[in-house]
Amino acid sequence: MAKKTWKKPVNIVMDIGPCKYCKKDMVNTESFVAFYDKSKAHYECMKAEDAKQQQANNNHSQDI
Ligand SMILES: [Zn+2]
Repeated sequence: MAKKTWKKPVNIVMDIGPCKYCKKDMVNTESFVAFYDKSKAHYECMKAEDAKQQQANNNHSQDI
Protein backbone atom coordinates (compact mmCIF):
# COMPACT_ATOMS: atom_id res chain seq x y z
CA MET A 1 0.00 0.00 0.00
CA ALA A 2 1.21 3.45 -0.86
CA LYS A 3 2.43 5.76 1.75
CA LYS A 4 -0.22 8.06 3.01
CA THR A 5 0.37 11.44 1.49
CA TRP A 6 0.19 14.45 3.68
CA LYS A 7 -2.65 16.61 2.56
CA LYS A 8 -2.20 20.24 3.23
CA PRO A 9 -5.25 21.59 4.97
CA VAL A 10 -7.18 23.83 2.63
CA ASN A 11 -8.30 26.25 5.26
CA ILE A 12 -5.13 27.74 6.60
CA VAL A 13 -6.10 30.49 8.97
CA MET A 14 -3.86 33.47 8.49
CA ASP A 15 -3.83 36.70 10.39
CA ILE A 16 -4.25 39.48 7.86
CA GLY A 17 -4.10 42.45 10.16
CA PRO A 18 -6.56 44.80 11.81
CA CYS A 19 -9.85 45.94 10.38
CA LYS A 20 -9.84 49.55 9.24
CA TYR A 21 -13.08 50.24 11.06
CA CYS A 22 -13.38 48.09 14.18
CA LYS A 23 -9.60 47.61 14.58
CA LYS A 24 -9.99 43.93 15.38
CA ASP A 25 -7.50 41.52 13.91
CA MET A 26 -8.95 39.61 11.00
CA VAL A 27 -8.21 36.18 9.61
CA ASN A 28 -8.36 35.21 5.97
CA THR A 29 -11.31 32.88 6.55
CA GLU A 30 -13.55 35.82 7.33
CA SER A 31 -15.05 37.88 4.55
CA PHE A 32 -13.01 41.00 4.22
CA VAL A 33 -12.23 43.66 1.67
CA ALA A 34 -8.92 45.23 0.72
CA PHE A 35 -8.60 48.86 -0.21
CA TYR A 36 -6.28 50.64 -2.61
CA ASP A 37 -4.26 52.02 0.27
CA LYS A 38 -3.58 48.42 1.34
CA SER A 39 -5.75 48.67 4.41
CA LYS A 40 -8.30 45.97 4.98
CA ALA A 41 -11.66 45.74 6.64
CA HIS A 42 -14.40 43.28 7.41
CA TYR A 43 -16.96 43.15 4.66
CA GLU A 44 -19.65 43.75 7.25
CA CYS A 45 -17.84 46.78 8.67
CA MET A 46 -17.44 48.23 5.20
CA LYS A 47 -21.13 47.73 4.50
CA ALA A 48 -22.03 49.40 7.78
CA GLU A 49 -19.71 52.31 7.02
CA ASP A 50 -21.18 52.59 3.54
CA ALA A 51 -24.68 52.77 4.97
CA LYS A 52 -23.56 55.45 7.41
CA GLN A 53 -22.06 57.49 4.58
CA GLN A 54 -25.25 57.17 2.57
CA GLN A 55 -27.24 58.26 5.57
CA ALA A 56 -24.96 61.25 6.04
CA ASN A 57 -25.30 62.19 2.40
CA ASN A 58 -29.06 61.91 2.57
CA ASN A 59 -29.22 64.05 5.67
CA HIS A 60 -26.93 66.57 4.07
CA SER A 61 -28.98 66.92 0.91
CA GLN A 62 -32.08 67.43 3.01
CA ASP A 63 -30.40 70.39 4.70
CA ILE A 64 -29.95 72.23 1.44
ZN1 LIG B 1 -14.31 45.12 11.40
